[in-house]
Amino acid sequence: MTRKHIALLYTGGTIGMAQTAQGYAPMPDFDRVLAGLLSRPGDELPRYTLHAYVRPIDSSNATPQDWQTIARDIAARYADYDGFVVLHGTDTMTYTASALSFMLQGLRKPVILTGSQVPLSLARSDAAQNLVTALQLAASDAIHEVAICFGQRLLRGNRATKISTERFDAFDTPNHPALATIGIHARLDHNALLPRPAVEAFELPDYPEAAVLPVRFAPGLPLRYVQSILDLQPEAVILQCYGAGNLPDRDPALLRMLGEASARGTVVVACSQAQQGRVSIGAYAVGSGMAAAGIVGAGDMTFEAIYTKLHHLLARGLAPDAVRGALARDLAGEISA
Ligand code: ASP
Repeated sequence: MTRKHIALLYTGGTIGMAQTAQGYAPMPDFDRVLAGLLSRPGDELPRYTLHAYVRPIDSSNATPQDWQTIARDIAARYADYDGFVVLHGTDTMTYTASALSFMLQGLRKPVILTGSQVPLSLARSDAAQNLVTALQLAASDAIHEVAICFGQRLLRGNRATKISTERFDAFDTPNHPALATIGIHARLDHNALLPRPAVEAFELPDYPEAAVLPVRFAPGLPLRYVQSILDLQPEAVILQCYGAGNLPDRDPALLRMLGEASARGTVVVACSQAQQGRVSIGAYAVGSGMAAAGIVGAGDMTFEAIYTKLHHLLARGLAPDAVRGALARDLAGEISA
């Protein structure tokens, strides 16, 4: 059997950082350190080719344009490799993973994102294990999706959220089982993985800027704050509601302003601040007017999946009603039926 060949895209993040006077910052000789780690004899690793970005970033600086650059780099090299590993900061890894899943629909090769909580240059780093496991999983014939390999699990990228700044298991997928558990062996859960699609159907439209704005509710949030967001005339607003998708109905002005925004063509989406479970608008009396105001529920999608999916649907040029309809449809395993 020929040795698999993996493209290793280094975009930045803690994994490639070193301590500086200002705190952690990307280190200049990461490729050399990486080569040292991956050339140890005895490890059963696929062959890899490193594509290091000229300016590695802290992922807190990532924008939708960065998601696009990574997706387009993978698409451009798709035929040349058996799988892809993307080294990325943990802070916004779940956004990038979600966006990649929507751009690289119909994926038939693994795209595995990983990084680390502690830089590769430090003795107690989790980087080596994450990276080596990610490379091995990127050589698997059973994975046909964008996934995050981190700590002791492989997780679906567009179901994942960062849950810890401390733990080596920094991510979780509260509404989906892990794709694999990683111990001495990586054990794939074939029921949790996406099936191999018939054909790739990549979509790489230009993503809009500042088109999707979130509003996180908290008790007593002034309505003029919500109105000030709507006055910016975003193409979509994500309401981070309570529980099963509830908003306060103390002041009818809230639903009125949201209804007016929907009628003007803003897509208004309700998700929950709770991590696990799904939104069901109208389950409680306080939420009963939401559907009439044109607000659509986000099912059991993560905030990251909703945010990136809206960017994707809007970039495709869909009209507001088409975006509302498509939001609830499964594109890449991000939402349950
Ligand atoms: N701030 C870093 C980043 O997201 C954190 C990390 O990589 O863990 O790039």
